[in-house]
Amino acid sequence: MARAFKLYDTLTRQVKELTPLTPGHLKFYSCGPTVYSSAHIGNFRTFLTADLIVRTAESIGWKVDYVSNITDVGHLTQDDVADADGEDKMEKALKSKEGAQFANVWDLSEHYAELFKDDWMRMNLREPMVRPKATQHMREQIQAIQDLIDKGAAYETPSGVYFSIESFDEYGKLSGNVDRDDLRTGVRDVVADDNKRHPSDFALWKKDDKHLMQWYSPWGWGFPGWHIECSVMARDYLGETIDLHAGGEDLVFPHHECEIAQSETLTGKPFSNHWVHTRFLQVDGEKMSKSKGSFHTVRDLVEKGVDPLALRYALISVPYGKPLNFTMQTLKDAVSHVERFRECVSRAEEVLGSSEGEGAPTEQLQQIYDQALDAMCDDLNTSVAIAKALEGAKVILRETEMSKEQAEAALWFIHRVNGLLGIAIADTDAACLDAASDEEEPTVDGKTITEWIDERKRARADKDFALSDKIRNDLAAAGIELRDSPDGTTWSQISSPL
Ligand SMILES: [Zn+2]
Repeated sequence: MARAFKLYDTLTRQVKELTPLTPGHLKFYSCGPTVYSSAHIGNFRTFLTADLIVRTAESIGWKVDYVSNITDVGHLTQDDVADADGEDKMEKALKSKEGAQFANVWDLSEHYAELFKDDWMRMNLREPMVRPKATQHMREQIQAIQDLIDKGAAYETPSGVYFSIESFDEYGKLSGNVDRDDLRTGVRDVVADDNKRHPSDFALWKKDDKHLMQWYSPWGWGFPGWHIECSVMARDYLGETIDLHAGGEDLVFPHHECEIAQSETLTGKPFSNHWVHTRFLQVDGEKMSKSKGSFHTVRDLVEKGVDPLALRYALISVPYGKPLNFTMQTLKDAVSHVERFRECVSRAEEVLGSSEGEGAPTEQLQQIYDQALDAMCDDLNTSVAIAKALEGAKVILRETEMSKEQAEAALWFIHRVNGLLGIAIADTDAACLDAASDEEEPTVDGKTITEWIDERKRARADKDFALSDKIRNDLAAAGIELRDSPDGTTWSQISSPL
């Protein structure tokens, strides 16, 4: 029986079944980062929602065409209003202290895009089918703007080309910002430009022959607005109507509202049939703040020795539709839970030898996995799905004498759960940091870590898992994390990153 995959839809404001236009084939666009600095954990919470959608869809047997872009021009600093003002984020970054290391804005963008892809891999996210850059789609953007002018929905002024919100009756349908007069009243709501027909009309093209990234267009030198980029890239790779569009909750308005207006005017068809937005993240109950030291990038945390899979676990532990309060305790709990999954794998592989693969599940593990999958199909209920994954691990680790069949079933379970949640096994080596290799080995209770690892190995050979667990836990309490793999056990130091 085919499973229904339900997600909350921001447009209709209800949980509804995701129904691809081509049954079993999802066309999905998720807004990617603007690459002017390293992505923070709040950004990644949003990217992880997209990743979990892809994994869940694949787990129920769908094919997924997944596109996630990179914005490398046109995203201005005051992006909370439709017609944003301020500086281009890329240009501003180049002028900052950190930006001084780059010869130009292109190098800066390339650098942060590469770091971003590393973080993405470390956090065990599925690679999109394509990761287009805004600057690589300039011709299509200029054409789309021209088409909007031809349709009477956009017009040129001395400062740029603007989309006329009055040309699109449904403007506001996603965000609920329907009272257009209301949009006038804010203090810096709108770009002051007397030539605009309506104060809330937003820029499709900014004329600027001093901008560091500029292109020649029918309206002279300049650069595109942020919103038109995603409209164009989504249509180019996925077609005129897509099944699902996602992003952070801060993108509902203006970014996605404006995307809808442009795209639906261009095609006369619905732009996306489903919209998903991830709620914000706080650290220790407050907004992340650089001055309070609570601003965390994935890169910083991983370089401080945090296991990327544990970070991933912590960031998905609360369903995407609820705010997440990220704390040191969340991360500590995640470290020990991820270890449970690794323990399952290493015990099963001890029985099977690492060359042997998974077999058939036991009835019990099959049932627990099905419940985890049901939870994910129910609006990505990650807290239930993770609880089920841990329940399965508990069942596996309860066996002190694993039979070959049980070991195969254990691997079956961990691989299925990992396919769904990505919290047990890193898909690439990038996630396996060997933080310990260059450091001098510390001692715990008079023994070096290597000595403890040897003692634990003997305990495991004797099937004394109580002792083996005790050693692991004692070391964890001393800030040493053990990691088992088919090649042996490695360790790393868990610093206190928060
Ligand atoms: Zn976007």
